Amino acid sequence: MEGIPVDVGLIYEGERIRKENMHVDLAGPKSFGAELVKLADMNKVKDRNVALVGPDIKDMQEGKAYPYGIFVEVAGSTLEEDLEGVFERRIHEFSNYIQGFMHLNSRDIIWCRVSKEAAKKGLSLRHVGAALIELFKANWPMIEKMQVGIYTDSEGVKKFREDARKIFQKRDDRLRGLKDDDVDVFYGCALCQSFAPQHLCTITPSRTSSCGSISWFEGRAAAKIDPKGPIFEIKKGELLDELRGEYFGPNKATYDKSNGTVKRVFLHSIFEHPHTSCGCFEAIGFYIPEVDGIGAVHRDHKGTTPFGIPFSTLAGQVGGGVQSDGFVGMAIEYLRSPKVFQADGGWNRIVWLPKALKERIGEDVPKEIRDKIATEEDAPDLEKLKAFLKEKNHPVAQKWKIEEKPVVEAPEIQMPVTGMPAGGISIIFKNAKIYAEKVIIKKEKGK
Ligand code: SF4
Repeated sequence: MEGIPVDVGLIYEGERIRKENMHVDLAGPKSFGAELVKLADMNKVKDRNVALVGPDIKDMQEGKAYPYGIFVEVAGSTLEEDLEGVFERRIHEFSNYIQGFMHLNSRDIIWCRVSKEAAKKGLSLRHVGAALIELFKANWPMIEKMQVGIYTDSEGVKKFREDARKIFQKRDDRLRGLKDDDVDVFYGCALCQSFAPQHLCTITPSRTSSCGSISWFEGRAAAKIDPKGPIFEIKKGELLDELRGEYFGPNKATYDKSNGTVKRVFLHSIFEHPHTSCGCFEAIGFYIPEVDGIGAVHRDHKGTTPFGIPFSTLAGQVGGGVQSDGFVGMAIEYLRSPKVFQADGGWNRIVWLPKALKERIGEDVPKEIRDKIATEEDAPDLEKLKAFLKEKNHPVAQKWKIEEKPVVEAPEIQMPVTGMPAGGISIIFKNAKIYAEKVIIKKEKGK
């Protein structure tokens, strides 16, 4: 691309920049940032303009992490607001076309990295903005004007992230009135297949995309402007299991797009055939067998889960496009869905959330269960989690009580002892209560 000191193209999309080869990180776990695309009035957009507020790559100290905000404004007479999220998601893909520039995640959890080689060649953030403009305009000729604002100063990024979060909230709120049952079609997104080849997001009103960036409305807008593109319509087809959210259409689409690897998808269950998980998910749902409950952890949580491992370790095990029984990558918004894990007991099965995530979902956690869900402060490990749930009488703990009932309860049980030398020894249990995981009744041969 003219004027840019590194190559730009599809071949760099899967390029990973390891820590040893990193010049700087932008946003990510050691700093903060956000990205946003907004539709703007034609006369307010200065076409192809890139503005940078804050230090550029050459001014950044090697090995450090800096705040990063990227604000894209597009104008076009045929563009509609529902496309904002769709365009926004493509910042990820197009940024990764730039040699020596890596982009992960979306919205306010982005994480970018610049390689030492790219910094040495003189890559500037203005070049990143210019490359994005070229790629967006080449893909969508209906974008008549486009400008990019990049912030790297701490105060500017903080303010930008705050404003962006309000817009994300507004987009998510719009979905609340619509349910899976109200529509005939869902949408599929295969954008993450470059990293997770078996992964397909099925985007429904009650289960938004795993990255949280593409809602059902945005899927509809994307499929309308580019029906053969990576976001496409999926006819719901026959409802195979209402509770689990299993439909013929998403099963077939996932089977086709995963080259026959994934045959069934339960949209609203974490067990057996949960939704596949790419790597861009905002949060992970995980089954905790020790308490028979479900926990969820979001990307921003810095501590560990009750298993003693952090989000990053869990993400490494769950991601890559696979389907893992008992684990699922998901958007934070899914926790607000009326169908959240509905086949598994919904909120009555959720036992652990990081404090920040619980506060973020706020009023959408049903009042009657809110205080019964532990956070890292109440339960940093499994033992404390079990004690907490018991003390709060969480619905899962009520189930333990039933299961903890003895299988045999009797004032006296007498048993002959087999395998002992003759002598007629027997053992007598007084006020016996016998607990067992399994009872096997066998008929002896010939009796
Ligand atoms: S997480 Fe899903 S919706 Fe988001 S870009 Fe990846 S495949 Fe598409």
